[in-house]
Amino acid sequence: MANEKIISIIVKVIIIWGGAIVSIAFHEIGHLAGYKICTKSAKWNIVIGTGRRFISVKKMQIHLIPLLGFFCISDDSFPKRKRDDILTTIGGPVFSLVLLFILQLLVMTFRGNNSGLSIYTYEEAATFLRNYNIYLILFSVIPMKYPPFLVRGKIDTSDGLQLLNALLKKGTFSGEG
Ligand SMILES: [Zn+2]
Repeated sequence: MANEKIISIIVKVIIIWGGAIVSIAFHEIGHLAGYKICTKSAKWNIVIGTGRRFISVKKMQIHLIPLLGFFCISDDSFPKRKRDDILTTIGGPVFSLVLLFILQLLVMTFRGNNSGLSIYTYEEAATFLRNYNIYLILFSVIPMKYPPFLVRGKIDTSDGLQLLNALLKKGTFSGEG
């Protein structure tokens, strides 16, 4: 019985923490997709989460606290055109919306179904991840500056604020939150 309880807790942590990391990674890969449409430059890297660094995989760094992510660009010549900035900026929220749609379908599919992973039903897991993605989309789309303790490198503007800046053509561009 004790073992089952430990396994349940581990499963729950993996879903909550792992799901949050994957959700942020998906958002940042959306920015990368927008960036790749605009340039062949490989001067980018992705930072997921904040706090202590957990692992580095090629151009992706994962930190322990999965609150925000950053798509960082070290190519000083980017963006050349206004549309480069706009495409790179909206790529993240567009990918997050796609993921949100998929998670909502999963929530509806699992509704009323009591089977699942130990103490966590599939419906609860899918609902948690859907809600987490709503939080992620709101925090990226609402125009704001992030508080310093969440900021990695030079990026402190949300995608919404970055998009406004791009449309008004002001400020410097070094990446996306
Ligand atoms: Zn973003």
